[in-house]
Amino acid sequence: MTTGARVPLIAGNWKMNLDHLQSIAFVQKLAWSLKDARHDFAAVEVAIFPPFTDLRSVQTLIAADKLDLHYGGQDVSEHVSGAYTGEISATFLRALDCGYVIVGHSERRTLHHETDEKVAAKVAAAVTAGLVPVLCVGETAEDLELHGPSAVPVAQLRAGIAGLTAGVELVVAYEPVWAIGSGQAATPEQAQQVAAALRATLAEVLGQETADAARILYGGSVKAGNIAGFMRQTDVDGALVGGASLDLAEFSRIAQFPKHVGT
Ligand code: PEP
Repeated sequence: MTTGARVPLIAGNWKMNLDHLQSIAFVQKLAWSLKDARHDFAAVEVAIFPPFTDLRSVQTLIAADKLDLHYGGQDVSEHVSGAYTGEISATFLRALDCGYVIVGHSERRTLHHETDEKVAAKVAAAVTAGLVPVLCVGETAEDLELHGPSAVPVAQLRAGIAGLTAGVELVVAYEPVWAIGSGQAATPEQAQQVAAALRATLAEVLGQETADAARILYGGSVKAGNIAGFMRQTDVDGALVGGASLDLAEFSRIAQFPKHVGT
């Protein structure tokens, strides 16, 4: 984690868990837990990514209670509007005050066969609507063996940002597919190696200033017990957390990593 301009981001991807009533209870308890722990929200940003059907409830609660929590969608359509049954547009997410949207999660790439081109179109749609994309990239175990750690994530990043221009606000989540939900996280050194390659790619395509401002998260079996190691790395600016983001106490402890990063 570099000191200075980049505010670390701890992001919880709830996937298809928690309905809107469960979300309301979770967000309330998360806010209390972080408040009790005197969490510095300006020093570490916390964001949640609930299912689409929860977003309006989450928006209402966060606005009514003036909570310092950020939120976003788990996916977005590449289209602005029209005959696309089941799709959710970036403008609809902005209308719910979403700040972020996850794009290109490995589950979308694998289970929904999303190509790099589709991911790039979604990233562009998000940016056009004023959302900050959290662009997920990562290699499978097979890719790792065949091409080494950075080749696939770098190629996915290059393709995903093809439609963007310098100055764009961007979050990139490096999520090795083999580490997602497996309990086997990458080592902090592995995460740093790929994060550095991703930042260099951002600098090459979008310029140094945009690359320096972009936040690069690590994701894949992050827990309270291993977050500190990742956050000590120069190019890792936070974490995208799946399973552990559904455990209130665990997620709250992950967000409070500055308390244990020096230990
Ligand atoms: C994810 O789904 O983005 C993820 C990182 O999951 P987990 O933390 O459970 O590995």
